[in-house]
Amino acid sequence: MNMINNNTPTAELQKLDAAHHFHPFTDKAALAKKGARVILRGEGCWLTDSEGHRILDGMAGLWCVNIGYGRKELGEVAARQMMELPYYNTFFQTTHVPAIALAAKLAELAPGDLNHVFFAGSGSEANDTNIRLVRRYWQVKGQPEKRTIIARWNGYHGSTLGGGSLGGMKPIHAHGGKIDGVEHINQPYWWGEGGDMDIDAFGLARAQELEAKILEIGAENVAAFIGEPVQGAGGVVIPPKTYWPEIQRICKKYNILLVVDEVITGFGRTGNWFGSQTFDIKPDIMTIAKGLSSGYAPIGGSIVSDDVAEVVGSGGDFNHGYTYSGHPVAAAVALENLRIMQDEGVVDHVKNVANPYLAERWSKLTDHPLVGEAVLTGLMGSIALTPDKAKRAKFASEEGTVGLRARERCFANDLVMRHVGDRMIISPPLVITPAEIDILIERATKSLDECYAGLQKDGLLVAKAG
Ligand SMILES: *Cc1c(COP(=O)(O)O)cnc(C)c1O
Repeated sequence: MNMINNNTPTAELQKLDAAHHFHPFTDKAALAKKGARVILRGEGCWLTDSEGHRILDGMAGLWCVNIGYGRKELGEVAARQMMELPYYNTFFQTTHVPAIALAAKLAELAPGDLNHVFFAGSGSEANDTNIRLVRRYWQVKGQPEKRTIIARWNGYHGSTLGGGSLGGMKPIHAHGGKIDGVEHINQPYWWGEGGDMDIDAFGLARAQELEAKILEIGAENVAAFIGEPVQGAGGVVIPPKTYWPEIQRICKKYNILLVVDEVITGFGRTGNWFGSQTFDIKPDIMTIAKGLSSGYAPIGGSIVSDDVAEVVGSGGDFNHGYTYSGHPVAAAVALENLRIMQDEGVVDHVKNVANPYLAERWSKLTDHPLVGEAVLTGLMGSIALTPDKAKRAKFASEEGTVGLRARERCFANDLVMRHVGDRMIISPPLVITPAEIDILIERATKSLDECYAGLQKDGLLVAKAG
């Protein structure tokens, strides 16, 4: 094989990629025909591809590059750490400075008595850890039958077998199955599933499905409930304000641990350090990853309460861990990322500048004939595409057809905006400026116009019957 580099022609890169690189969440045959977009570099909120396009990244990579691309400080810290101590493990009563410093920093940032960090390499791994943690917790307490975990349909908790099982995405369950002892209740998605119900009554009803499920299984068999404060991969579903207080009440009443998956909502995404603060949730365990290192290094973890740490810690060895738990380079990079976030007031920027500026423009997208609702919390938002807003109708075409067409228009207009079914979602870097928000809205509007024209031309502006 010839050496390739950033100057290799795109077609050649695409051919090699298709031949040897097995992509995640991708139709391999379809990609081989089309060729992947090759990203060469990033700066702030902008990406450059191998064709020289300057692309505005409305997704911060995969919801993770919160401080933006190209921050040299992170590279410098990584290089320094690699030369000093590239690796050592944290098993068997050893530790190192980056893991100590990061754990202490996270204990300081996390709300309440979330003071103990178990490190993983990703969000999926951290949720696998959580399955063991909550089951072990009840074992040590002498209630080993308390092992079922309740989660939500259309939730996302990663794609390892454990994480994918907690998630409520049937296409993921369909490929490889799911583990036992996980049950799902419906999501608090009012626009899509609320029918004629008042939004707050709907939020309450969906939360009360947790109580019904606990009673069905028996509280003596339920270890925990897990949920994202705001569903991300499920389409940026922001729950009605009645939802989380009721979930919290039910967990408390039946003595069920509450695991809050903050892999996306953590580290400023919702305008506070954690989504749990925005939605006033008091978790026993919090899952973190993504924004922890702004994606510069793979790292995740579980921040657990004093109680969980004390109980699990009193049971002798906890037979679980990863070779890269607390990896020194990843931990050093995460620490530097958090330093930058604090020193530069990134969370305040989200809360006081970027969110208010984007919120006004985002909500105006509902003036567009294709857009039913537009919702935003902090810097994660979504719009529902619909052929009939008054009826909150779905399209007659297979779900996702219109969303994919809209995404392709965004792609063509050098904007990364994802689709989930027929919802379009954004989650830009947290450092996005008002001028860049203007460009985002301009490109999104142009893409929606083009999508609408295409749907008209192809006779696809048709509502699903019923
Ligand atoms: C991305 C994500 C995960 C999985 O994280 P990975 O690092 O991809 O394993 C888990 N939970 C939520 C809420 C996520 O968005």
